Amino acid sequence: MNVDECYSELGLSAHASDAEVKAAWRRLAARWHPDRNASPQALRKIQRINRAIEEIRRVRGLAMTMPASLDEEAPGAAPDAPVEHSVELTLEEAAAGCARIVEGEIAETCGLCGGRGLAAQPVPCETCEGRGTVRQHLWFSWVSPGLKCRACDGSGRVRPACARCHGSGQAARRYRCRVQIPSGLRTGDVVHASMRGQGGEPLALLLHILLQPHPLFALEGDGTVRCALPVDGFAWLAGRWIEVPTPGGPQQMRLQRDHRLYRIRGHGFPVAQDGPRADCIITVDPLFPEELGKDQEALFERLIASNTRRRGTPAGERMAAWDAAVRRWKDGLA
Ligand SMILES: [Zn+2]
Ligand SMILES: [Zn+2]
Repeated sequence: MNVDECYSELGLSAHASDAEVKAAWRRLAARWHPDRNASPQALRKIQRINRAIEEIRRVRGLAMTMPASLDEEAPGAAPDAPVEHSVELTLEEAAAGCARIVEGEIAETCGLCGGRGLAAQPVPCETCEGRGTVRQHLWFSWVSPGLKCRACDGSGRVRPACARCHGSGQAARRYRCRVQIPSGLRTGDVVHASMRGQGGEPLALLLHILLQPHPLFALEGDGTVRCALPVDGFAWLAGRWIEVPTPGGPQQMRLQRDHRLYRIRGHGFPVAQDGPRADCIITVDPLFPEELGKDQEALFERLIASNTRRRGTPAGERMAAWDAAVRRWKDGLA
């Protein structure tokens, strides 16, 4: 049976909601369950229905609980499947931990009919008008002896569908709850929480964590966070303070000539759930102009003059000594 055949076995389209799938199963199972239907094809039919429902559940990948038998879904009898949510976190939220509001709709057992889908009080059968028998009109006679009414099985009374759930046995309830998410979780981690069902019973809530990719940071397995950023080459030479991003917020950092790698301790991602934070490693890429402008050339002249051409500074003295040694060497060559 392919998936389309499964849906048509249940009299549904592939667009049917979970509640409609359940309601269809309930309706068909009530009709064809061997406990209730002694006809020879009932067993084959219920097997086909069960195969169809299993395939639909598999394809939907949903935690759709189906009762093993019709009587099993009395209130409180079947444990409810956990309510599952995907929760996307930014790296900052995951690093610090956060609270999330999750909300949705849950199908619960209808409180009016107790999940059976039927009204409490039977009403007179419409087919036989409550007589339990129907008259058959035959061509040779105006009226034949009464035959047992099939709609009510001769009882004259039927129980209509529950007015609240229209026979599905399920009632939708909106829920909204706040879940505390611990720090240090990553994609694939699951947070277990619980909320209250309609009767106050606990309902399991599973949150599947999904960490969003970050535009600035790369997260490593041990919690180290790496960030590579361009810096002004002259600011780098001049040892200026710059602001750098970390998962814990912006930090001031002093650039050092000759240093491209900086470690900001304890500003990375937690090493484990609720654990201490690893380090944030900043890599700087100093940027210089490809060609110097006129004003920059002039500034460089002044810089050079103030450095290796100025007597009395260590660099100036060393350059002067070098120049003198080269002069003596050239004189010796002549
Ligand atoms: Zn009837
Ligand atoms: Zn109901």
